Amino acid sequence: MPDDPPGYGVPLALKARLNEVEGCWLDVQCDCGRSIRYPIRMMVRSLGPGHHLGEIVPRLKCEKCGAKPATVHLCETAIREFCKGAPPGWSVQLHPLP
Ligand SMILES: [Zn+2]
Repeated sequence: MPDDPPGYGVPLALKARLNEVEGCWLDVQCDCGRSIRYPIRMMVRSLGPGHHLGEIVPRLKCEKCGAKPATVHLCETAIREFCKGAPPGWSVQLHPLP
């Protein structure tokens, strides 16, 4: 998996507005085993385009157990594992920060 996204280092990604990364996905994994990939397009619809990822990531909670997520990644595509479809694209870890 490529880990150098073209254009989004972690600090840049956290400053990005939702509308700038509208085509990307947030991959949220919880210690309870729940794992979700949210389309940022949906967040633009529900929250508005002007929010920064840096505001949103700390507010994320697991839908199943209500805990803070174990990891959050910003991903280029909806697919994380390499499989028969499109390549998985880049992803950058937003939480926990390295
Ligand atoms: Zn959970």
